[in-house]
Amino acid sequence: MGSWKDNIRKINPYVPGEQPDFPDMIKLNTNENPYPPSPEVRKILDAYPESLLRLYPDPNSAKLVEAIASYNKLRNDQVFVGVGSDDVLAIAFMTFFHSDKPILFPDITYSFYDVWAELFRIPYEQIPLDEHFEIVRSDYYKENGGVVIANPNAPTGICQSIEALEDIIVHNQNVVVILDEAYIDFSNMSARKLIDRYENVLIVQTYSKSRSLAGMRIGHAMGNPELIAAMNDVRFSFNSYPMTRLSVEIGAAAIRDTEYFEKIRRKVIETREWTKKELKRLGFLFGDSMANFIFARHEKVAAQTIFDKLREKHIFVRHFSSPRIENYLRISIGTEQEMKTLIREMERIIQ
Ligand SMILES: *Cc1c(COP(=O)(O)O)cnc(C)c1O
Repeated sequence: MGSWKDNIRKINPYVPGEQPDFPDMIKLNTNENPYPPSPEVRKILDAYPESLLRLYPDPNSAKLVEAIASYNKLRNDQVFVGVGSDDVLAIAFMTFFHSDKPILFPDITYSFYDVWAELFRIPYEQIPLDEHFEIVRSDYYKENGGVVIANPNAPTGICQSIEALEDIIVHNQNVVVILDEAYIDFSNMSARKLIDRYENVLIVQTYSKSRSLAGMRIGHAMGNPELIAAMNDVRFSFNSYPMTRLSVEIGAAAIRDTEYFEKIRRKVIETREWTKKELKRLGFLFGDSMANFIFARHEKVAAQTIFDKLREKHIFVRHFSSPRIENYLRISIGTEQEMKTLIREMERIIQ
């Protein structure tokens, strides 16, 4: 006798960082931006006529697509928007990875990639990074069903040069290469120009980190119109109205406020560089992060110990128990004040 339980889809889901809620906490565990979004967002929230929520939103999210296209000097048909870049990436996996050959991505990277591959039954191979967490580009020359690279990588923060990425793309002209640029605004290294030269390259970015809108869920992809149209066909086979009216308005306003964006982006980068110096002084070891976090281990004290002791003080960082990285902590960059408090606590823990 079978059971209805035999037909349940079983999968190990991606586990997001926890969202604790203490009034005094310092939250450095999910790479959110410590600064509020653009003041233009407040204006929209204050003025938004709630009666409009009665109506379905524009299925094409045209206003948001136009704002993103204009900011990136692209045409509208080169832009796809989704409910956070997780949604954009999931749709890209569904749309482009249909080969019997495995898709390739690093062994240490965003831990959603293998979950989507499992969910969509895409064969995959995780290619080891070298001992400095760098990509060995020749490992990506072999036959495959697609390539995904987060740049800067998560959770390491390491950024590959455009030249290295282009080399991987040149060796992979028969598959789609996805570049996940969730953290690119904290570097100066966007591969955005490569989509003009390679029609098989898709660049995915998010509003969650550099634009302080993790709670709104907005992400986008940029690529040649055929890639974008194929993704839209898949998305409209699943959900006709992914973006809410508010996310379209808020997203468009946020991307237009370039002045505010530059200001908070620079602040996070400055605080990151200050934090690097302090962590080094305390005996932490880490690569040169180009993201809004630092991925570090201590020369003497175990990551778990530091994690637990920070937690007692309501300072939350991220600790992954996966092989090769179990002794590292990923510390998001908060405000200057938050990072000073973190360093003070670290001094006590480390001594
Ligand atoms: C945060 C993150 C995302 C997803 O961000 P959204 O909030 O879904 O836009 C995608 N890729 C990487 C590497 C990330 O760190």
